[in-house]
Parts: sequence; structure tokens; C-alpha cells
Amino acid sequence: MGTDVLVIGGGNAALCAALMAAEAGASVTLLEAAPREWRGGNSGHTRNLRCMHDAPQDVLIDAYPEEEFWQDLLKVTGGITNEKLARLTIRASSTCRDWMRRHGVHFQPPLSGALHVARTNAFFMGGGKALVNAYYRSAEKMGVQIRYNAPVERLEIENGRFVAAWVGTERITAKTCVLAAGGFESNRDWLREAWGQNERGEWPADNFLIRGTRFNQGVLLKHMLAQGADPIGDATQAHMVAIDARAPLYDGGICTRIDCVSLGVVVNTEAQRFYDEGEDFWPKRYAIWGRLVAQQPGQTAYSIIDSKAIGRFMPPVFEGVQANTLPELAQKIGLDVATFMQTLNDYNAACRPGTFDHTTLDDCHTEGVSPAKTHWARTIDTGPFYAYAVRPGVTFTYLGLETDDTAAVRFGGVPSDNLFVAGEMMAGNVLGKGYTAGVGMSIGTAFGRIAGTQAAQASGFGAKS
Ligand SMILES: Cc1cc2nc3c(=O)[nH]c(=O)nc-3n(C[C@H](O)[C@H](O)[C@H](O)COP(=O)(O)OP(=O)(O)OC[C@H]3O[C@@H](n4cnc5c(N)ncnc54)[C@H](O)[C@@H]3O)c2cc1C
Repeated sequence: MGTDVLVIGGGNAALCAALMAAEAGASVTLLEAAPREWRGGNSGHTRNLRCMHDAPQDVLIDAYPEEEFWQDLLKVTGGITNEKLARLTIRASSTCRDWMRRHGVHFQPPLSGALHVARTNAFFMGGGKALVNAYYRSAEKMGVQIRYNAPVERLEIENGRFVAAWVGTERITAKTCVLAAGGFESNRDWLREAWGQNERGEWPADNFLIRGTRFNQGVLLKHMLAQGADPIGDATQAHMVAIDARAPLYDGGICTRIDCVSLGVVVNTEAQRFYDEGEDFWPKRYAIWGRLVAQQPGQTAYSIIDSKAIGRFMPPVFEGVQANTLPELAQKIGLDVATFMQTLNDYNAACRPGTFDHTTLDDCHTEGVSPAKTHWARTIDTGPFYAYAVRPGVTFTYLGLETDDTAAVRFGGVPSDNLFVAGEMMAGNVLGKGYTAGVGMSIGTAFGRIAGTQAAQASGFGAKS
């Protein structure tokens, strides 16, 4: 006998959907492509959830009202967002935590080094891995059938209605289905195709690293688009940060971040600076550096600091390349010494004296050098010196399926009445570009819960809304 609700995927969005559908009384089967030990997708790498709140609430300080959250989203997306769905996400983020706690998720005050987000973001105790494990435990208790090593390759869809899913040669039927199988960030061929070849003849995506799971291959996304599901977003838009070039191809997670960019300069493989390293606070700017580095030759750059910066940023897991002089540093990282020294000397000569304060947008800036460094510009002159090679790290892609406030998949503008979508597979409805920390989990939680509720209702459980 088929299940009522079939959930495809095994991360936050899928688990939220499965739990809501099970709470409504539906029988639920969840198909996770990964083996049990790798379950949870990118959600296992997360730390926090962006939450609206009008007054201090347990781990959240001050207030972060709807309008401010919305303005933040509007700014980072440059207006490429669906206001209705964005506001729905924002409002849902203010009420979901009690439900999350009921399913075993705990929150903690932010750790030092992340205090700047204490107002806007609630941190998971034990990180995303603990969240995912708690949800799996709760789902098992509620009788959700969980199958690992179950990558769905295709669906049978008739007139916009879900009929069955195929895992290898097995056909799995259900009354309704929720798609929550992530983006296509782990599919290197697709990234290559989307990014194409640049003017230097390079295929930039060949040098990208994937910060999260290897299982988000976008197989279902591609299949759904081929079936005529309405798309949303652009295949080159993604959350991308500059990460340690030594990170593994997949699953390096958050510990591969290099957080000293705003304290020094960044040069490319031609030993040239290419962007204002002090444009804004690092947490507000770290998500643009993946794309910036993607545009550089070899998709590699070097974050250069001197010993004055040590102790002012979260130290990376792996030590940087260290040298007592700048020419020696250039040599060690394989850059042309003369060009590197010219770049550093030009920068140092352009630094204007000011009062250095890394906690404010201070007045330490450059004059007469391009690109300018507009804050925290101090001469790089005190050895030992350090260099960290960085490469673009893709967090998740934004191309997805268009949806509405019922999380329905749409075909030619018509919402399916039994096929729903949540998480990265539809995040592009809210995030056309850009990112603001913690909103990936806000979107996945909001739409995962809606999709689960809707799927249960469409299967005959719970009141019609
Ligand atoms: C290193 C890192 C840190 C992050 N930190 C944060 C953070 O602190 N806060 C935040 O809000 N966001 C963060 N994000 C983004 C966040 O992970 C995502 O927005 C969110 O987890 C998406 O949830 P999801 O359920 O849609 O996708 P995922 O959690 O990636 O789950 C997708 C699931 O689908 C499965 N799957 C894929 N294809 C198939 C298939 N064909 N059949 C069956 N199953 C399939 C995968 O195995 C996986 O279990 C981070 C991401 C990374 C990589």
C-alpha cells in the first residue's frame, strides 16, 4: 500500500515537512539519497536561523521587527524577491522555534566571534547536525518511514499531479509528494555549464569547491524543469564565499572560512588587488567574495595580513603561509615578487592615519589607490606576515521551482494539487541573489512546514486552510 505523503530529501526542509504531515495524522515516507551517516544535507552544516522578533526572546537580544528583516532581504536581493513569500518566511520565523523545541531542537546564546548576529539569529545547540539528528529521532518516534540510499531519479506526473517516484527500478506511489532535495550545487557538470567559459578561456566552475553535501546533484530539479515545472531564478546565482583553497571538494563546512579579509588586503594570482576589502563589516560582505574570486584568474586569491591582525579574527583551521618579510611571503605563495611588492607598497603608501576600530566602520582608509580600501586600512608592515589562499566555495544554488504561499509546484502557472516544494529547491523565490545569514533555514523551515501541512491536507488529513 502506498504512503499518504512521500517526502523526497533528508535535510531541514524535508524533515519539517515530514514532521508536520505526521503531526496531521498522515502516513509519511521520507527518501534520503545519502546513507545514514551522511544524512541531513547542507542542513547538517548550519549554525543558525534568522528570526524576526519584536522584543527580546530567550537567546535573541533586543528586537528584529518584520520591517527591518524585510529591508535587509530587499537590500541583499536588490529587489529580486517575492515580497509575499518573503514576508511569509519572515513571519513564520517568529513562531517556529517553540515547534522546533518540541521536536528536540535546542538553542544557545551565540558563541564569541558571532556576537554581532545575537540580535538577528538564533543558534542551534550542537549546530545543524544536532538539529537534523533531533528531527530524525522525532520523525522515527512518530512513525515516519525513513529510507536512506534512496536517490529519486524521476517522478511520474500526470496533468500536474504527482503519481509515483522512481528509485532505481523501484516505483513508489503516494497520494501526495513534497520535493525537498536541495539545489544543484554539488553537480559540477551543471555548475560548469551554468558558468560557462570566461574571456581567458577558463571554465571557472572547475575551480569551485562545494561547502556542503555531495548529494545535492539537482537530479530532481533538472527532471522537474524538463517536465515543465515553472522555474525561478538564475543558474549562476548562488550563495558563494571565499574559502580556504585547501578545503575538501565537498563537506568542508564552516571551518574552511577565512575571516581576515577586512584586516588586510586580497590579491589575485597576478599579485593585484581587485576589490575594497574594507567596504563593510565582514559578516555583511563575506558572501560577495566567492563571486569576486570566481572572476579572478585561476579562481584563486590570497588574503594577506601582518601580525597586527592576529587575534582579531576567528583563526582558520589550517595555518596560513608565514614569512618574516613580504618578498619572502610572495615567493612562498608563488606570486611575482616585484609585482606583489609594488601592490603592497602602493597600498601602504595610500593608507591614511586614523583611529583603527574593527568594531565600527572606522576612519582608516586609503587615498590615491585603486581599488580603495574604505575602512580598517592599516599598513601591512609588521612581520611575521601571513597569506591564505582562497577559492570560491558554493554554499547553495538559487535556481529552483516557482511556488506560492501553499508551496505548490506550478506548471504553466497552475498550482499542482498534490505536489509541493520546500527548501533550496524553491529558495530562489525569496532569494533572487545575495544572502543574509540564517535565512536559508528560515525559508526551509517556513516552506517545509507549509509543504508538509498542505501535503497532509491534500491526502485527506487536517483542515483545509
Ligand atoms: C557550510 C554551510 C553552512 C551553512 N550555514 C547556514 C546557517 O548557519 N544558517 C542558514 O540559514 N543556512 C545555512 N546554510 C544554508 C542551509 O544549509 C540551506 O539553506 C538549508 O539547509 C537548505 O535545506 P534543504 O533541506 O533545502 O537542503 P539540504 O539540507 O541540503 O537537504 C537536501 C537533501 O536532499 C537529499 N537529496 C538530494 N537529491 C536527492 C534525490 N534525488 N533523492 C532523494 N534525496 C535527495 C540530500 O541528500 C539532502 O538530504 C549553510 C550551508 C552550508 C553548506
